[in-house]
Amino acid sequence: STFESLGLLPELLRAIAEQGYTTPTPIQLQAIPIVLSGRDLLGAAQTGTGKTAGFTLPLLQRLAPSASKSFSPAMHPVRCLILTPTRELAIQVFESVKTYGKHIPLRPFCVYGGVNINPQIQELRRGVEILVATPGRLLDLIGQKAVDLRMVQILVLDEADRMLDMGFIPDIKRIIALLPRQRQNLLFSATFSDEIRRLSAQFLHDPATVEV
Ligand code: AMP
Repeated sequence: STFESLGLLPELLRAIAEQGYTTPTPIQLQAIPIVLSGRDLLGAAQTGTGKTAGFTLPLLQRLAPSASKSFSPAMHPVRCLILTPTRELAIQVFESVKTYGKHIPLRPFCVYGGVNINPQIQELRRGVEILVATPGRLLDLIGQKAVDLRMVQILVLDEADRMLDMGFIPDIKRIIALLPRQRQNLLFSATFSDEIRRLSAQFLHDPATVEV
């Protein structure tokens, strides 16, 4: 199987070729068609399996504007929210979104704690469509009215097992309460514990499951 046969946009295929990838990994083969179809996804995958491209490529395709328009923040609210447990993972996912999305006119951004919040507020004012965030800093930004999540269409919880371990679930629940009910949800975890199953039963709607 090839990336072409998965039905990805030419702009994405170009970015993939520029990365030198020739063959989709097993998680990519399974996850990409599910995410493109709009279904919720529960994915068991470790880092190193290609899971980041597995969710980033199809979500870029679902959000890709049909024609490029001039940019104004009001017309470009956050449409995809990717939550990660750590700053390191947030930066890594943000780099992937930029790499795979470099030929698609969508603005990604990344926010995390431990750094000055003001530059993040400034950047959010300019309009951000794909936001990668750690939960604590995102709640701070929400408290300062610097981010509006009412137009989010896709929610990704990456490394959900680590978010559980780190005690982020109450934060995540507060964030999810601010999202539209009608949205696509993707949850990735290295393991499927009972707690992960409970979390997915609470937030995912009839998910397809992939395990690699
Ligand atoms: P991830 O599991 O998403 O952290 O990805 C692990 C590594 O695999 C990253 O360095 C990616 O650049 C790389 N990668 C992802 N997909 C592919 C692919 N289809 N072919 C070759 N390398 C890939």
